[in-house]
Amino acid sequence: MGREEIDLLVENAEEIVTLRGGSQKPLLGEQMNNLGIIKNGSVAVNKGKIIAVGKKREIKAKFQAKEILNVEGKLVMPGFVDPHTHLVFAGSREEEFEMRIQGSTYMEILERGGGILKTVRETRKASRDELLRSCKKTLDTMLEHGTTTLEAKSGYGLSTADEVKCLEIMKALNEKHPIDVVPTFLGAHAIPVEYQGDADAYVSLIINEMIPAVASRGLAEFCDVFCEKGVFNISQSRSILVEGKKHGLMAKLHADEMTGFGGAELAAEVKGVSASHLLFASDNGLKTMARKGVAAILLPGASFSLMTGKYADARKMISWGVAVALGTDYNPSCLIESQQIVIALACHQMHMAPSEAIAAATINAAHALNREQTVGSLEAGKKADIAVLKAPNHKFLGYRWGTNLVDKVIKNGKLVVDEGKMA
Ligand SMILES: [Zn+2]
Repeated sequence: MGREEIDLLVENAEEIVTLRGGSQKPLLGEQMNNLGIIKNGSVAVNKGKIIAVGKKREIKAKFQAKEILNVEGKLVMPGFVDPHTHLVFAGSREEEFEMRIQGSTYMEILERGGGILKTVRETRKASRDELLRSCKKTLDTMLEHGTTTLEAKSGYGLSTADEVKCLEIMKALNEKHPIDVVPTFLGAHAIPVEYQGDADAYVSLIINEMIPAVASRGLAEFCDVFCEKGVFNISQSRSILVEGKKHGLMAKLHADEMTGFGGAELAAEVKGVSASHLLFASDNGLKTMARKGVAAILLPGASFSLMTGKYADARKMISWGVAVALGTDYNPSCLIESQQIVIALACHQMHMAPSEAIAAATINAAHALNREQTVGSLEAGKKADIAVLKAPNHKFLGYRWGTNLVDKVIKNGKLVVDEGKMA
């Protein structure tokens, strides 16, 4: 009997982290330690999809490949899924970095017209071409660090035209770049200067003009709100998210980041796909999220960048059966492009095991983006989005850090990064 002819074999990995079994439901509690590891394994790829994963000799017996990548001594895993980034913005905020070092808080900087508002001024001024060019560079770096799918939020436009502009840039990036870009509308990121003192009028603009404009153009899958004391309160957040859902946008929240504000409860109430941050979420809010299946996207890079020393209680969430995912929160106050760094922070600062952090940055992150059927694990039928790491086993993630462990990245079955650089 002849062997089936296929496009590509990724052969002879020291360890393959498959994350199999998490495509119907996210990995919860103890399941996060079961990564479906195969020693001395191979992945068979055809027409951009994974068709089989198994022991080297079993795969070799069944398939004959046009191209073979020998990955002896290396770790093979799904490409990282980054479920929370603020990809599209202009400029940078290094002077605020120095202010934070000297003790200024995020809210103090925002109240002085800095923070998000400074980036909004620069993003409104920037041309589409400038934004496209700088975002493409960021995506290149992210891809070289193993990310193959990410979520990108608008939220530095804060006018209908500028929010649409930023979402159109994401659409163009998704079409042009190997990384899959999943768009989220975050008009409710801050109250723009022209609406200071009249938040309700800005909320009306979001509801009556922005959401219909974004939804009718098919520019976003999710609608997010920065639900926080001094930004959008619970009732404003609820109205925005409910309106978004009426227009087919699934709900996401920035919740309980700086104060306990009832954001976790609201995420559960509106049946959100995810709530992010959750440093100050109440026990009741977290338990309700677990019951309703709302994913918790934890962003230890944001805590690290804010320098408050406070991190989300990942151990409690995992023990209560909350679906925990990890993201970079890439934005001008948290310029982290690498999910490997986020995994290291999760291990060191939130006491997550490497296995738990890997599940959180792959299959659980895919659930937090409604992409669990197509990415986040190495299983037959999924996209061939594969990262090959210079590591003998998965425990090196988090343990060896500060350097890029990625050797190769395969996206939709094509080699797009080789020896750590874009091919
Ligand atoms: Zn964010």
